[in-house]
Formats: sequence, C-alpha cells, structure tokens
Amino acid sequence: MTDLASLTVLQAHKMLSQGEISSSELTKAVLARISKRQSVGAFITVDHAGALVQAAKADQFLSDNPAKNTPLLMGIPLSIKDVISTKGLKTTAGSKILENYIPPFDATIVAKIRQQGGVILGKNNCDEFAMGSTTENSAFFVTKNPHNLKKIPGGSSGGSAASVADGQSLLSIGTDTGGSVRQPAALCGVVGLKPTYGRVSRYGLIAMSSSLDQAGPFTKDVSDSEAVFELLIGKDPYDATTCSFKDAPEAKNKLRIAIPKGIVDKLSPVVKENFLKGIKQLSTKHELTEIDLPDPDLALAVYYVLMPSEASSNLSRFDGVRFGNNRSHFGPEVKRRIILGTFALSGGYYDAYYKKALEAKEYLTQRYLQVFNNFDLIITPTTATSAWDIGAITDPMEMYLSDLFTVTANVTTLPAISVPYGVDGVLPLSLHFTASSGREDLLFKIGKEVENL
Ligand code: GLN
Repeated sequence: MTDLASLTVLQAHKMLSQGEISSSELTKAVLARISKRQSVGAFITVDHAGALVQAAKADQFLSDNPAKNTPLLMGIPLSIKDVISTKGLKTTAGSKILENYIPPFDATIVAKIRQQGGVILGKNNCDEFAMGSTTENSAFFVTKNPHNLKKIPGGSSGGSAASVADGQSLLSIGTDTGGSVRQPAALCGVVGLKPTYGRVSRYGLIAMSSSLDQAGPFTKDVSDSEAVFELLIGKDPYDATTCSFKDAPEAKNKLRIAIPKGIVDKLSPVVKENFLKGIKQLSTKHELTEIDLPDPDLALAVYYVLMPSEASSNLSRFDGVRFGNNRSHFGPEVKRRIILGTFALSGGYYDAYYKKALEAKEYLTQRYLQVFNNFDLIITPTTATSAWDIGAITDPMEMYLSDLFTVTANVTTLPAISVPYGVDGVLPLSLHFTASSGREDLLFKIGKEVENL
C-alpha cells in the first residue's frame, strides 16, 4: 500500500480520478501525518473538520462525474501560507496584530483552488508579514526543518516548504517577495517557483511589497509545479498588474545557460562543490557559458530599499482601528522595516534612496533582459549554504545577505525556480534557474532534467 501522504499532486489526481482512493482517505492520511509531526510546526491553523467536509464533497463530485475531465486539484489536500486570505479561515500573516483576523473574502488564487475542488487543510506558518528567511520572525513559533529539527526550514514561507517536504500537505501556495518561495523550498528539498511578476493575481495577498510580491507553488516535483502554475496564472480584474502572456515558442533541446562570473566565490565549500558538479552534468547536454553580470549585491541593495519603502506604506493600514490589534503588536523585524522604509521615503532622502533604487531596478532589469537575447537561462545555486541552526543568525544585516541569489528575480520581475539537487549530509541542496519574462516553460524543462541527473 502506497504511503498516501507521500504522493505528488499528479499521482494523487490520477488515483482519485480512477477511483483507486477517495479524497477522504487521502485527507485523513495527511491529517494524521500533521498530528504525528506537530514538532515540525508547519501549520498555524489546521482546519481538521473543514478539510473532512471538503474531502467528502470532492468524493461526491468524483462519484457523480466518473473518470474524465476531473479538475486537477479535486480532492487534493493542500495548504496555504498564512499571508494569503482565506474566507472564513483565520489568516494571521504570522502576526499578533492579526491574531484573530478572519477574512470575509478569498484571495483570487484561493478562489481558483476552491473552484477546482482543492481541500484546504489549513494555514502554514511564516515570518511575520513575510519578513524573514527562517520563520523565526513568526509571532507564534518557529517552524523546524523536517530533515533535522534543529535547523531552520528557511523563510518566509517556511511552514509551506516544511509541510510539503514532510508529507503534511501535497501542495502549498506561498509568496515570494525576495525569495520566500524558492529559499525555503531549497532548504527543505522541494520545488519552489516564483512566476513572472503579473502572471499570478496578488488580490487577497496581505501585501508586503506590491511591486515585488508574487505567489507561487511548493511541490514535490517539477511536473506538479508546472501543472499548478497553469491553474494559478491569468488576468484578474481585481489586480490591475496581472497580464496575459503569449504562448512560448517551442524550446530547443540544447539550451544556452549563463553562469554569472564570480558567483562560486560566494558559496560555502559544500554548495560550491555541488554547484560545480551540477554545471558539469548539465554541460554534457547544454551550452554553459560564464558571463559578466552586475554583482548580486546590487540587487540586494535595491531590494532592501524598495521592499521596506513599499512595506511601510502597505502596513500603514494596520492602524489598530480598521484591522486587528494596535500597532504595538508588530514584532521587531516589522518595526525595523517600517522605520527603514519611512526613512527612505521621507522628504530629504527620497531622491537619494528610493528614487535611486528605482533607477537601479530599471538598470538591472534591462541588463538581465539583454542577457536573454543570447541565453535561455541563468544558473546559480538558490542559497550559498545549506540550512543553518535555529538561532544561529541574529544580526539582521547578516540575515539579509542570505537572500543574495533570490532577490534579483523579484527586482527584475523575472520568473525563477529552485529545484533540489545534491545534499549536505541530510540537508538538501538545490539549483536555481532564472528565465526571461513569461518563459516559465524553460524553467520546467530544465527542472525536469535536473531531477533526472
Ligand atoms: N528573506 C527576504 C526578506 O526577508 C524575502 C522575504 C519574502 O520573499 N517574503 O525580505
């Protein structure tokens, strides 16, 4: 008998539509796994009863509509990062300020999942307002890395990554503003995708930084990522920044992959060795070339001006009058970013910081788009190290440096994927690919190849 909790979305979909298993059985197996592994701390809210009701409904649908054209997510137990609004289900953003907030509406992506018949198990733990790289900034508790409970799972969507890696969910949807889908996916050994800015609706996401935020899936493999991505994308009348993209041309077999020069000097010895091995393996089929690109430090500097500026503006709605508790309930990292952002936007400094960062963002975007005139993909590792000990990094500046390889995709609006590749003992390592706007197809193609190396 298969361990039901370890199934991928596509495997479970096939078994459900062929009547080999029921959604109730599958949902109970996953709920049992959640209870057994509470020590991981992947969930802020588990909607046990609600999930079983949704599963029973899915089973009814499956028996009324046998075999053909079953929606992909019908009866699939999945979870949602707690910064994404779910109607009737508590949504805290990992913050005491929203400790008891129950949204009166669904985010567009949640509505899409419900239309599909997806079974929402609950809400995954995350750093407060998605600010962090470890989930240590959650106001409630720290999520643990399921491969070693002393290690961080990454962040900010650490609960999402841990739940999928640990069989506590078949799929989770997270948000990625500077790497919060890809980095925890990398550290927990699952696939994490940040789509091109504008492909997936942000309506109903508790905003961190509106020009950088993008929701994306955590899945056990690349085929699941691709299938779920197809369901999430599309224009949304509630989000004016969404747009539709042309169908991508057929990808060539041999891809031109750029390696940013100097990148290996920034990696820990294990990650470096693993990355060089990946390059060597991929070189047997593809053309890999070192190229000059602006140092990733530049994107990091731009990110840590634009992100707090936008966050300070977005968070001003939490004034203790319209939503939730008063502002003293913000945690220290959130306060730090509000202060940073307010400073960067203030009269005397606006030109020196915010305006300059916007110019640098434009420069970087143009530079990266130029690269894609001659290349299909850019390769880096997702992170410079494997997962570190809980509590090991306390200096905020040092924490910000851990976003080195992920923030560029957000600053330049480009799509990027993290795919597991190699290990450091029990801890997963990964490769990270960035493609041109709307070319997620290339990310899925290379991702599937990496899975088979
Ligand atoms: N770690 C980054 C930060 O702290 C990214 C956060 C995110 O993508 N939500 O800002």
